[in-house]
Amino acid sequence: MARHARVVDRRGDCTHKPTTRILRKNQVVCAEGLNVEGMLAHPPLAKSILDVGWGEPPRQLEYKARWYGRTFVRIDRFHSGSKRCHACGHTVAVLPLAARHWQCPECGAALDRDVNRRSRKPR
Ligand SMILES: [Zn+2]
Repeated sequence: MARHARVVDRRGDCTHKPTTRILRKNQVVCAEGLNVEGMLAHPPLAKSILDVGWGEPPRQLEYKARWYGRTFVRIDRFHSGSKRCHACGHTVAVLPLAARHWQCPECGAALDRDVNRRSRKPR
């Protein structure tokens, strides 16, 4: 197998396995859109972004969701999910990218920008 074909094959495997696993375990899958075009305008990032193929996982999630009877939702890239408190719904105007954790000024909830969700109640 030619080297290029092997790279393509491994890359496909790296996205097919997790996208299939995600869809088998969940009824609804949401993926946030990214401003890839804008990121490509940043030369130091452009080659790496093109190399990893960020568009492929959401594409696979979308068609596989149809196969498995799941719901796939694309979240608009301008949706302020990271800046919105899950506890009270308050949205802060500015949240610097470096701020991984923040406290809601309205209700005081301690929040993680990447896992901003309600905790599951213990059963
Ligand atoms: Zn709050």
